[in-house]
Amino acid sequence: MKCLGGVWLLTALLFASCTKQWSQPEGVQVYFSPNGGCTEAVVENLDRATNSVFVQAYSFTSAPIAKALVDASRRGVKVQVILDKSQRTEKYSEADFLRNSGIPTLIDDNHAIAHNKIMIIDKGIILTGSFNFTKSAEEHNAENLLVIRDASLAKEYSNNWDAHATHSEPYQSNLSSEDRPSKKSSSQPSNKPRTRKVPAF
Ligand SMILES: [Zn+2]
Repeated sequence: MKCLGGVWLLTALLFASCTKQWSQPEGVQVYFSPNGGCTEAVVENLDRATNSVFVQAYSFTSAPIAKALVDASRRGVKVQVILDKSQRTEKYSEADFLRNSGIPTLIDDNHAIAHNKIMIIDKGIILTGSFNFTKSAEEHNAENLLVIRDASLAKEYSNNWDAHATHSEPYQSNLSSEDRPSKKSSSQPSNKPRTRKVPAF
């Protein structure tokens, strides 16, 4: 019995040394904000996309991330976006820019809030975490962003994206053109008082 116990111990040690450690998963990177490179990581991954990008976002006010999505779309990548209903009335939302750039942009108002922050790139890379695709999340908030390379997990996220897409509807702004800041004139001084602050998300 003593000998058998030794064999078991040796087997357990060999097994432990051969199995992957959960604390160091391969193909996973993490970024923390404020100013920890979250936006840069999102943009870099979008710039490398070659086939498809599926997005779920709660608040989407990040100009560089929106631009990276439009750039991807223009080089032939299939880009589709689902946003929370708050983006119908969010003054600084990039929803108009995405839709007007030809990206299918949907609103999911089937939930209290559609709080996911997810990108699925080329059916193999998942970007997710607390990090909203916003300037505030990058510069002011404490957030995290995981970049995960795993095709089987990406498939699960894609299935979930599809499920939300089935009960979503095309984005239509509830703001008038006067209320929504123009991309072209955003650098121009305005006499109109701002009645809303940039959200903290
Ligand atoms: Zn949904």
